[in-house]
Parts: sequence; structure tokens; C-alpha cells
Amino acid sequence: MRFEDLRLIDPLVRAVHAEGYERPTPIQAQAIPHVLAGRDLCGVAQTGTGKTAAFALPILQRLMGEAAPRAGAHPIRVLVLSPTRELAAQIGESFAAYGRHTHLRHTVVFGGVGQEAQTQALRRGVDILVATPGRLLDLMGQGFVKFHALEVFVLDEADRMLDMGFIHDVRKVIAVLPQKRQTLLFSATMPRDIQELAGRILIDPVRVEVTPVATTAEKIAQSVYFVDQANKRRLLVDLLRDPAITRALVFSRTKHGANRVVEQLERAQIPSVAIHGNKSQNARERALTGFKRGAIRVLVATDIAARGIDVEDISHVINFDIPEVPETYVHRIGRTARAGAEGIAVSFCDAEERASLRDIERLIRMPVPVVSDHPYPMTASAVSVAASSSGGPGRGNGAGGSSHRSGSGAPHRSGGGSARPGPGGRRSFRGPRR
Ligand code: AMP
Repeated sequence: MRFEDLRLIDPLVRAVHAEGYERPTPIQAQAIPHVLAGRDLCGVAQTGTGKTAAFALPILQRLMGEAAPRAGAHPIRVLVLSPTRELAAQIGESFAAYGRHTHLRHTVVFGGVGQEAQTQALRRGVDILVATPGRLLDLMGQGFVKFHALEVFVLDEADRMLDMGFIHDVRKVIAVLPQKRQTLLFSATMPRDIQELAGRILIDPVRVEVTPVATTAEKIAQSVYFVDQANKRRLLVDLLRDPAITRALVFSRTKHGANRVVEQLERAQIPSVAIHGNKSQNARERALTGFKRGAIRVLVATDIAARGIDVEDISHVINFDIPEVPETYVHRIGRTARAGAEGIAVSFCDAEERASLRDIERLIRMPVPVVSDHPYPMTASAVSVAASSSGGPGRGNGAGGSSHRSGSGAPHRSGGGSARPGPGGRRSFRGPRR
């Protein structure tokens, strides 16, 4: 399957080739014909699957095929709502890249920065508006945004919108959109609230779904180190001494934790930077540029900040903390092993995190191999607790259930024996293969 086979017009095919894309990804192959045909669509796909091009390309083509409402005027014809400013900015960059041979205009609006440049762009007129919900509502309230000519509405990362508490804002925006429009909804997961929302806003939608989480996880060499919380930073420094880790994305549950990791890495003279919601937009952009250029080897991020960060060639994803929601683990490790490449994911698990690890193993339907040969093994009592969490999938009530971290430190299961042996000899940072 080639892009030409999807009946994409030449200016778009040239643009994707210039991006280095050879073939459409599965979500693109499935979604593009339906979007071109004007159908509503529910896309179950996570970041990294190529979903942005799956909607941006056919949208650009539709806009090019139809005469603009009035020569010279650029009323908003497409609205893309995105939960985070990073993702919004990247969607904007994608429209710029794929639309480079078109005359269509787009702009991106998000909070955390002054609104002047955004309102100027809106006054000049844009065909495509990419926005985060809060800033969009602000600008709508001030009369800068009119949707009378809207033709296509895209709700991206709907599940994340819900997680971040934006769903009311999203509903308010949808309420003012013209009823007659094409609507595309993308979500990595389809919890009930999102299904309900989809049922309300999509008319006779096509559903396309790609890469079930288990498949994504299978491509990645995963390993877990059982380590006390207090030793995690030291272990990280130790691992990062391996030059094979060329570009690492380290996930921290909290902003504060991310900062502390960076402080420790800096003391060890490992160039690193933290990226999270407390940083100014400028600081975030500087950090990302440094990371993309390779000047900074380690990016420490919270889940929300990392979501949608589009950096190629991440050699390692390191879960400094085990996420409590198992799907988050899959999103995180999916940041390595892009575009078919094999990636490596390493996780640090303390005694209290073992329940979350067990939920993850149930979701991905495989045990995460344990590296036990490392300089900071857990204290003896913690090991037996932790080992009970690595019993692999098949326990509990099926995959995909929601995770509840146990409040107490008491083990749920015990007597699981010692942690599985590691690969032996010098520890391997690639982690043992399954
Ligand atoms: P997305 O899921 O939209 O965030 O895209 C993930 C990454 O895949 C981005 O870096 C895109 O530039 C890249 N990408 C999108 N489509 C293709 C394709 N057909 N071939 C290769 N890379 C692609």
C-alpha cells in the first residue's frame, strides 16, 4: 500500500515523501479513505501510530477540493482540539509539513503564553485551528473565534481530555459548533464516558482500531529492576553510565520527583533536563530542542508533559516510577520502538509498586523480565514482597481492568520465592529478552 493508492493528491503525496514516509501506517491506511469520503470516524489509536497524518492528510485534501467560502477570506473550516499544548503544537507542525504545497492556513492556540500573537493570527484568518480547550474557550468568550463556516471537527486524545478534567470545556465548545459537520474522534482507550461522548457527537461513524496494547508491548525489550525507592536515583545514574543509552526518556510520576532526578543526574554530570507543567513554554521548548538535537541525553518528564512529545530515536524509556494506570505503562514504553524499530524499556519497582506492576503484566499479557543482578538490590524483606508481583499474567480477573494501587504497604501475595534471576554475569541494560 502506497500513499498514492489512498487517492491522495500529488501535493500531499510529495509532502509526506519529503517527511520520509514511505508507506501509510495501518491507522492511515484504514482511516484516510473514510475521512476523504466525509464519514464520521472513531479512531482507537495511541500516539506513535501516525494518527495525526491519518486525519490531517484527508482534511487538507478535502479543504483543497472545495472552494473556500469567499475568495480571500479564511473562516475557520477545521477545528482540532488537543489536550496539551505540546500535542497541539505538534499537530500544528504536522499541518504545516503536510500542507506545505497548499495555500491553506492554520494556527495553534494554547494557554500558558500571551494571547496577542494568537489573536492576530485569528484576525488574519485561518482555515485550520488547532487548540487546547481552555484557551479556546477564553478566545471564544472574547469574540475572536467564529465557527459558522466549520466543516470538520477533530477531538484528539479524548481519553486524555477526560483524565485531565477538560471534558466540560470540550462539551462547551461542541455546543457552539454547527450541527452539520464531519466529526473525527481519536482516543487511545475507550472508557465508558468516551463511548458515551462518541455516541452523542458522531453520526453513523466508522470505527478503526490499531495496535492493541499487547502487540505494542511485544516489540519492546522490557525489564524491571526491583529497587528501594531511596536507591532509584543512584541506580539511574549507574545505568546511564552505559553509552548505549543514547537518548533516554525517564518518566517520573511527579514534577517534584522529576526535578530531583535531574538534580542528581547533574551532580553526576549527565546532561539532563526536566519537562513538566510548571515550566514555562520557553523552557519546555528549549528542553525539547536540546533533547532532539542530542545535546541533552536524558529527558525527565511527567506523563502529561511527555504525552505527544514527538522525538525520534528514543533508545530507552525508563520508568523511574511504575505508573498506577497500566495503560500508561504501554503509552510510555511506546515512546521507544517507533516506526517498527525495536526499543528498550526499563522499569524501577519498589515494594509498594508491585501491585501496579502486576496490573501491567496482566494488561500486556506477559511477565516483565526481572534483572536481579544490579548494585542496589532491594532489602531482603522487600524482595519477597516484590517477587510476588512478578508472577506474570493470568492472575486476577482479566486484562485491561483498572488498577488500584494498594494503600498500605502490606503484601497482597507473598511467598513467591526470590526474584527471578537476571541474565547472569554483567548486567545487561538492554534487559533480558523474553
Ligand atoms: P503520531 O501518532 O501522529 O504522533 O505520529 C507518530 C510519528 O510517526 C510521528 O513522528 C510522525 O512523523 C511519524 N509518521 C506518521 N506517519 C508515518 C508514516 N506513514 N511513515 C513513517 N512515519 C510516520
